[in-house]
Amino acid sequence: MTKKIKSVKLVSDFEYIFKCPICNSSMRVFELKSLICSNNHTFDFARQGYINLLTHSVKTKYGKQLFEARRKLIVEGGFFEPLTQAIAEVIKKQVVLKKGTVFILDTGCGEGSHLTNLCNMVNSDPKTTVTGVGIDLSKEGILVASKSYTNKIWCVADLANTPFKDKQFDVILNILAPSNYAEFNRLLKSDGFVIKVVPQSGYLKELREVLFDQSEKQSYSNVETVDLFNENLHSVNSLRIRYTMNLDNSLIHSLVQMTPLTWTTSEERVKSFSEKNSAEITVDLDVLIGRKKVLPVS
Ligand SMILES: [Zn+2]
Repeated sequence: MTKKIKSVKLVSDFEYIFKCPICNSSMRVFELKSLICSNNHTFDFARQGYINLLTHSVKTKYGKQLFEARRKLIVEGGFFEPLTQAIAEVIKKQVVLKKGTVFILDTGCGEGSHLTNLCNMVNSDPKTTVTGVGIDLSKEGILVASKSYTNKIWCVADLANTPFKDKQFDVILNILAPSNYAEFNRLLKSDGFVIKVVPQSGYLKELREVLFDQSEKQSYSNVETVDLFNENLHSVNSLRIRYTMNLDNSLIHSLVQMTPLTWTTSEERVKSFSEKNSAEITVDLDVLIGRKKVLPVS
């Protein structure tokens, strides 16, 4: 079976979650090649199995090289493994114990490794069925995801206008990516959770110290991001995940290629960091866990 047909079959099983990003009507898989709405708006499956559901073309700065570097750092370097473990524990405890099937949407999934690793960890319980859906604005990211991982639904989509019906997801992941709380609240089941990962002050500090002079760029505060989360969702818990990873030269290259931090500094500084034989790198993140706010009954 080709990647495309595999993906078409998977989407067919879950076509009821989709809505047309143009007219909001229901969608269905048509002739094993497209997702089509009741007003005939048609979105074709790509050869690699993903669907592009953007209504207009979008150029992002996130290219193929960045996503391949990120995939290498995650898959070969295990760079985010303690983070993924921690999130998997949260999902198992909060969601899986209550129900056998879990729907996870990763918003800003990039090349798909976080979602895939996480689904594998949560799925280790035989009584659980986990379905993963990943969306990203960058076609380059989704392309790498659909080439690498065939058992997920991958869509190029705009977080401001996601192609899904209301209340479809048990978990919405938002890992080091922009949020859209109106959409999160619309897409979440009434007992679902948003799990958002934001950088803490020490995140990649060894890299930032080389790339930037000014102290304000060397340290990072997530206070505004956390406040916005708490305004829009009912905070259930938050965890701080902090560890260091030793990277060899090849993984240092991947880190440098992966992070947008290098976009605002000089080439010499990037080069001096890239030439290191090895480096201890700090990963310091907050995991925010929130539910829908219950509106007071008037
Ligand atoms: Zn339509």
